[in-house]
Amino acid sequence: MESQAQCSVCSSRSYSTIVAAEKMFGMGGHFQYRECRDCGHVELTEVPQDITRYYPANYYSFRQPSAIKTFLKTKRSAYSHGQRTLIGALMERKIGPDPTAEWFRHAGVRKTDRILDVGCGSGIFLRDLREAGYTSIMGIDPYIERDYQYGPIHIKKMSAYDLKQKFDFIMLNHSFEHMLEPVKMMQQLARLVDKGGTLLIRVPVIGEAWKTYRENWVGLDAPRHFFIPSVSSFSIMAEQAGLRIHDVVFDSTDFQFWASEQYKRNIPLESSQSYDRNPGGSIFNADQIQDYKKRADQLNREQKGDQASFYLKIN
Ligand SMILES: [Zn+2]
Repeated sequence: MESQAQCSVCSSRSYSTIVAAEKMFGMGGHFQYRECRDCGHVELTEVPQDITRYYPANYYSFRQPSAIKTFLKTKRSAYSHGQRTLIGALMERKIGPDPTAEWFRHAGVRKTDRILDVGCGSGIFLRDLREAGYTSIMGIDPYIERDYQYGPIHIKKMSAYDLKQKFDFIMLNHSFEHMLEPVKMMQQLARLVDKGGTLLIRVPVIGEAWKTYRENWVGLDAPRHFFIPSVSSFSIMAEQAGLRIHDVVFDSTDFQFWASEQYKRNIPLESSQSYDRNPGGSIFNADQIQDYKKRADQLNREQKGDQASFYLKIN
């Protein structure tokens, strides 16, 4: 299709369109996305006026886990971040290491660094870090009800545009794709990263799963995801914001397969038949899930996974 509309990243007028429905909760609807034929960027043509409707109270980032779960996960996180306790070791063995530990290691984050999480929701990820020894952690999200404090962790109801102070490490953990004007946001984040600091943006990316599943790809997440970058469109945006990509780690998981297979069969993520809710009652057996895990690792090695972590530095 050739028309007046253009790719918001590379300005190309050559694109194809696809219509997708809301599938996490099974709310349906028709949301049109444009896929740029030049840079591969996929973006929502028109943001629905009632977008908040698609963030119901049970949306995952607003959930508050139980006290005991929080206690155990806090021990697990402290262990993953180097504070060795028996209970932490047992929890890490049971549920795996805290993923933040890997990101922090990769970015060389120190315990005294000024850390900012942009779009932290109710701050579940951050709250787990309260015993891990970090002295300065702040999370911000304009859509939470109010401010919270958990020991050294401050969670504030605000946007990145409200901040002026510098940080050593800023992360966006699957929040970037929910934001309008991504380049403008990147420019603001570049202002907030101190010299020598790192900006980590974790996002879904256009990979093999998009090609396979199209409107049923779980990473599209219509209409909450306003755009999904390709590696090329992400690189162009970073450059426009004066940022340099220091490293890219593909970290897609089995989720891209089982959740998209469910969407193909109209099984919402938030349903009793969903694999993460009820593995025994799902449409998958253990072998299939193992196979999906292997395929995800393979795609990550080939840089075709559907999620990536971009480690950025200021120029
Ligand atoms: Zn483009």
